Amino acid sequence: MDVYCGRCGSLSLRPSHLRVGDFGRLIFFHYPVRCIECKRRSFVTILEIVAIWREARARRSRWPPL
Ligand SMILES: [Zn+2]
Repeated sequence: MDVYCGRCGSLSLRPSHLRVGDFGRLIFFHYPVRCIECKRRSFVTILEIVAIWREARARRSRWPPL
């Protein structure tokens, strides 16, 4: 599942830090993410955040590049 930034269309999203004001969204299973390219903060569904976590973990396991 590919998740795109709503502003720049980048696939480079990472989970954002939770803020107190986010808990209203969490009830609806919306999780904050940050675009690495344009720094925009937005919300994705729980299914999308799982895909982003998996991609972030895969990226870490490929580091450092040979
Ligand atoms: Zn972006």
